[in-house]
Amino acid sequence: MSFMLRCFSCVVLLLASLTAPALAEKGKLRERLTPAVMAIVYPGAERLGLEEGSPPAIAVYQGDKVVAYVFSTLDIVAAVGYSATPFDVIGGVDLNGRITGAKVIAHNEPYILNDKRREQLLDTFLAREAGRPARGGSSGMLSPDFVASATISARAMRAAVVETARLVLRARSAGEAVTVPTLDTESFNRMSWQELFAAGAMVRRRVTSGEVAAALAKAGISAAALDVPLGKADDLYVEFMTGLFTPRSIGGSLVGLQNFEEYKQRMPAGAWAIIVASNGPYDFLGTKYFREAEGRRFDRLRVVQDSRTFDFVQADFQRIGTGRGEGIRGQQDAALFTLAANSGFDPVQPWRLELLVNGSGSASVSIPFGLDYKIPNAHVLLPDQPTVAAWVEAWRDSRLNVALLTLLLSVLTLIFVFQGILSRSRLAHRLVRNGFLVVVVLWLGWTAGAQLSIVNVISYLRGPFAGVDIGFYLAEPLIVIVAVYTLLSVLLIGRGVFCGWLCPFGALQELLGQLSRWLGVPQWNPSPALERRLWLGKYVAAAAVLVLVLTSIDPTGASTEIEPFKTAITSKFTRAWPYVLYAGALLAFGLFSERAYCRFLCPLGGLLAALDRLHLINLLKRRPECGNPCHLCERSCPVRAIEPTGKIVTAECFQCLDCQVEYYDDARCPPLARAAKLRGGVAPTAVTVENA
Ligand code: SF4
Ligand code: SF4
Repeated sequence: MSFMLRCFSCVVLLLASLTAPALAEKGKLRERLTPAVMAIVYPGAERLGLEEGSPPAIAVYQGDKVVAYVFSTLDIVAAVGYSATPFDVIGGVDLNGRITGAKVIAHNEPYILNDKRREQLLDTFLAREAGRPARGGSSGMLSPDFVASATISARAMRAAVVETARLVLRARSAGEAVTVPTLDTESFNRMSWQELFAAGAMVRRRVTSGEVAAALAKAGISAAALDVPLGKADDLYVEFMTGLFTPRSIGGSLVGLQNFEEYKQRMPAGAWAIIVASNGPYDFLGTKYFREAEGRRFDRLRVVQDSRTFDFVQADFQRIGTGRGEGIRGQQDAALFTLAANSGFDPVQPWRLELLVNGSGSASVSIPFGLDYKIPNAHVLLPDQPTVAAWVEAWRDSRLNVALLTLLLSVLTLIFVFQGILSRSRLAHRLVRNGFLVVVVLWLGWTAGAQLSIVNVISYLRGPFAGVDIGFYLAEPLIVIVAVYTLLSVLLIGRGVFCGWLCPFGALQELLGQLSRWLGVPQWNPSPALERRLWLGKYVAAAAVLVLVLTSIDPTGASTEIEPFKTAITSKFTRAWPYVLYAGALLAFGLFSERAYCRFLCPLGGLLAALDRLHLINLLKRRPECGNPCHLCERSCPVRAIEPTGKIVTAECFQCLDCQVEYYDDARCPPLARAAKLRGGVAPTAVTVENA
């Protein structure tokens, strides 16, 4: 045995050296900011500053302006992933509080290590975080489910990036914390004329003479003398545009920062300003704003917000020089209109600019043409949303799967409660058992990815030493439920509840084994003496894996690859060929010897078999004749868990109930058949197995 252990350790150390990732190392962020990392974290950065401040971060410059900060989750929050060891994700956050990108640099996550496909999925998932507001909320980002079967790691990394970005920003923008959505009046991010419209910071509308005529007709006005006569139907009557001028990024981009400051100084303190511009025969200015007799009012425009209407007079107005250049200067007319701080106008809520086409007829005519506006979120400071714990989010997202698993476990519990009834019908037992195993492989394993593994055991054992909180243990809802059910069932009934019914890889082996026997594939079983020795293999494997990983002789967990679960179930055979070959070989072995991997090699099976010694109840029924003289059940046991004496070795029993089907079969079980004969029934031929 010690020879086996030595060989196994050598293989593990070899694997560990071949597959070891760069382990996370704190500090010296600059050295980790390779061009490839920067291309994801902040593409197009012109210059990087020094690593400084608390928490530490590196400023990203465009020209001489800081536009973002780059940080490492490891250096600041040192969040742990599924492996209970800290990972390192480098991320960026701009001055508007938006994540600019993120890239994992080092990790020890068991379901991602050595899995190129999942590594790519994780890279894509983190890169798509670009644009997420660090203060909370999202749009267009990927769900952690995108990194199939590694959602815990993905969720933990995303939470760490957001949390670290918040800390970095908060330390560098003291006083900007807000409790309600607030207009960001100070940040500056220069935008071109086209970018302002593309981002929704400016909006515009064209109105033709035909549209005005149609609006007049709809209002039942046939003979109106408009302030400006209509042209041909397709002729432009007015093009008007508007936007909120107050945010520096918008106002400064429109008129230049220096002009922006001058316009602002001429406004009352705290006032908001909108900008309006127009082209075409009709303009937004009209002729009344400079006439005292008309109240110096602007009669061609108004702002509407909810049920409030805001009108303007000349005192609210500042003209913007136009008629030359590009952008706002290239329009026919442009002006600013201020709304007093106490006017009731809310700049972060939607509003509408109404341009009124005026005229006279039998009565005065005024037809409104609206232009809706909502300040883009990029110019709004949002309060930090309360952080939802990753494990709470995981449970919320898994509600359907949790319900389905609860149903599955309820069915399994009923099977065990009523196993005596089920075992009385060979057909019902076979249908229920095979149906259940198919669901376990197809849904629990391949769809929900809930394959309990020695990796989970290691994580749970490592947790207390890594100082993790309760959320770490609850991070994977389905695994938590299966693990708790398994622990209770192994202490109550034995190893077989999980191994016989809930293990997707075990179920896959069994279904393939049944198929192979149905096809007449010859079966092989070792002699009883050799089999007893081979049974020890799984205990050795369990002890070796636990010792190697928990003592960090194998820090990357390479020895857990003895389990084919990651390949055959979690990844559905989408890993590198050596892993696929190994899993395929184990399944192939099972075609010739029922559940060979489970009986001789599985470390999780070994651990459960060791715990099986503690089980409290024996549900499997026996008769005094079992083993002497009858050996029917012994021969019916597919995994040879019944000794010649008739005793069931529960550590090797998979609770498949095959022996119970024989036990209740009064045509095959000799004592029952004899009783039936005495009652006048026909003696079955099966009694000949008594002394077999
Ligand atoms: S022995 Fe291992 S593979 Fe087999 S059923 Fe149990 S846990 Fe699954
Ligand atoms: S047939 Fe074997 S494995 Fe199945 S329940 Fe009986 S003893 Fe256990």
